[in-house]
Amino acid sequence: MNRFNVQVPNQRWFEENIGCENACPVNTRAPQYISAIREENYNLAFELNRGDNLFPAILGRICVHPCEEKCRRGLLIDQPISICSLKRASTDYRTHFPQIQRAFKKKGKKVAIIGAGPSGLSAANDLARIGYSVTIYESFPILGGMLNVGIPPYRLPRHVVKRAIEEVRRLGVGVLTATPIGKELNLESLRKEYDAVYIAAGAHKAEKLGIPGEDLQGVIHGVTFMQMVNLGGDLKIGQKRVAVVGGGNTAMDAARSSLRLGAEEVFILYRRTKEEMPVDPRELEQVEEEGIKVHYLTQPIQVFSRDGINVSGVRCIRNRLDEPERDGRRRPIPIEGTEFDIDIDLLIPAVSQSPDISFLPEEIGLEISKWDRLAVNPETFETNVHGIFAGGDFVTGPRDVIRVIADGRRAALFIHFYLSGEKIEKSLAYFTLVPEVEIDPNLEKIPRQRIDTLPVQERKSIDKEVELGFSKERAVKEAERCLQCHIFTIFDRTKCILCGGCVDICPKFCFRMVSLDEVQGDDKFKAYIETLYGIPLEKARGLNLATVMIKDESRCLQCGLCAKRCPTGAITMEEYHRESTFYREEGR
Ligand SMILES: Cc1cc2nc3c(=O)[nH]c(=O)nc-3n(C[C@H](O)[C@H](O)[C@H](O)COP(=O)(O)OP(=O)(O)OC[C@H]3O[C@@H](n4cnc5c(N)ncnc54)[C@H](O)[C@@H]3O)c2cc1C
Repeated sequence: MNRFNVQVPNQRWFEENIGCENACPVNTRAPQYISAIREENYNLAFELNRGDNLFPAILGRICVHPCEEKCRRGLLIDQPISICSLKRASTDYRTHFPQIQRAFKKKGKKVAIIGAGPSGLSAANDLARIGYSVTIYESFPILGGMLNVGIPPYRLPRHVVKRAIEEVRRLGVGVLTATPIGKELNLESLRKEYDAVYIAAGAHKAEKLGIPGEDLQGVIHGVTFMQMVNLGGDLKIGQKRVAVVGGGNTAMDAARSSLRLGAEEVFILYRRTKEEMPVDPRELEQVEEEGIKVHYLTQPIQVFSRDGINVSGVRCIRNRLDEPERDGRRRPIPIEGTEFDIDIDLLIPAVSQSPDISFLPEEIGLEISKWDRLAVNPETFETNVHGIFAGGDFVTGPRDVIRVIADGRRAALFIHFYLSGEKIEKSLAYFTLVPEVEIDPNLEKIPRQRIDTLPVQERKSIDKEVELGFSKERAVKEAERCLQCHIFTIFDRTKCILCGGCVDICPKFCFRMVSLDEVQGDDKFKAYIETLYGIPLEKARGLNLATVMIKDESRCLQCGLCAKRCPTGAITMEEYHRESTFYREEGR
């Protein structure tokens, strides 16, 4: 017999049913900050973000927003809530600029961090707040890692990065720029001087295409090119034809930056189709608006030169797509006889990056994985050498900012545990009654609001931000689209008279009244029924002892009609709250 699978809700169940919050690597309390924006309380929205993801003004611009993929509105109705752009609105319109202080007493222990990218900075932030004395060693003359040397300023203005870094420095974090950890000052000396070390050195080694001619002058790999763009002062490309290879962030950034630096014509060569491109569709739209031509199903096979020194062209071949590979994307297969040449002056291969582990001294005996990466325990971020932790892109290869922030924050907690034996427990959740759910009757018709962007003809300078964010009015409208999955229908079994009113009134058919024989569950469900009736579950089923009200949470719009209709008050609408996953927000 097919039975409905039921679960008795626990904290984990509630968390999983708030899709956006659960999908965020740092569990940002998105529904709560969206609610605050609906009430035009931007200061509270900012505070919630700062407590969870630390760098809301940065992430509100460039986050890859895994939250939006799990947004119930996107899954049920139309498009997901613009959670990322609402984060930015919280930072654009806040009026309160709190001075964040250390939250805990000084611990008298020292931690060194290698690398001042988002992972190193987030670990530094949390360790300093817990009370450790933290020093960051950074090989570039500036802090921020890829936030400053990768992502271009027209997507992430430098004053935004600077302000985020200042907040970390204000906690008393020491920084040594232009100080690479390598031969002279090495990991072994840090290990002796500090109680623990967190390595967050990123992935800065460009992956090659492995085709003839790749060493010619005029071939600059994506990360190196972006470094030159960001650190090179007045880099000019001039009237050149540029081809960029790749379909990710680095490729898009290299192409758009070339255009801003004076290139005459820019192409992107991508070996699969638009559907497989890993880049955000919004960015691809901007690439196309700016007149950059994307050649899909196209792959370079040779770079050539007329004078034997400088690049003059690239030979490409067309592809077709075969069966999906391990990552789910279909494998490109070159079609013989479709070769063609493009005249270019600059080729930017931007296919991937990998971590450079050459600075790790062999004598320490750190375990290296078969992919030439430093091996860490994925739960604790500890390496096989006591006191040395590592995270961010350095241990996985290129990912994204929110995931490396999550690494830094978790690593900080485990470093604290390693140094003190103390665990910082996840805070417990609690509910508050929502007496009246406010829901716009046209909720399902409100379209996703667009953010403003700079007109194409004004996008000439590399420093001019393209995305301008939401106006206050549109931010509130967008927040009103949210289905508020953090408000739950809570049932009081003892008050229910099984009248079926909630089943009848629910516009989304979430409820059903079924017999005990029609449901099955886990051990918790079994224990629940057995405690309730004092007999084994199977026996209770046989006696047809109970009628069970079940609810499909994934379809619920939190309209509250069931609670309004319930004649006995057995259903209430209650808001789920929890403090920051990482620590209680003391000291703010
Ligand atoms: C062009 C580009 C665009 C991107 N766009 C996006 C985007 O839109 N959204 C998104 O989420 N992600 C994006 N990413 C990815 C994101 O920037 C990275 O995933 C993230 O910055 C990794 O953070 P991290 O702290 O691990 O390393 P990094 O940011 O790389 O920082 C590592 C730091 O360690 C330093 N370092 C290295 N070796 C040493 C040493 N031996 N001694 C001292 N210091 C050392 C480096 O100089 C660097 O400052 C982009 C990346 C690039 C390259």
